[in-house]
Amino acid sequence: MHEYSITCSIIKILNDLIRKHKIKKIKKINFDLSPLAHIEPQSVEFYYNFLTKSSKVLKDASLKFRKDKIKIECSICGKSFKSENIVSNCVYCSGNKLRIINSDDIKIMSIET
Ligand SMILES: [Zn+2]
Repeated sequence: MHEYSITCSIIKILNDLIRKHKIKKIKKINFDLSPLAHIEPQSVEFYYNFLTKSSKVLKDASLKFRKDKIKIECSICGKSFKSENIVSNCVYCSGNKLRIINSDDIKIMSIET
């Protein structure tokens, strides 16, 4: 159900883009998934297909998901870096006051029309 509301907001964003740029057909949508997001790409795809059935512009687009790396910022030296896994020490100063700065669960990176 969580994916359902996410997909609804994605479609809302897409519809705004379509109106703004007078897009006739969207063929592909590229997403970045936050590494911390509990989102099943298959569920997003399922709801997308279900919700866009009657939209000529949106239906049949292929959805591509890329899992982002974890973005970490060090509160001691102020530098930020990316990592595949959650780490406990800064790669620059070995400090242990780290903050994960990934924001959105899922982001539309680009669309192909
Ligand atoms: Zn540091």
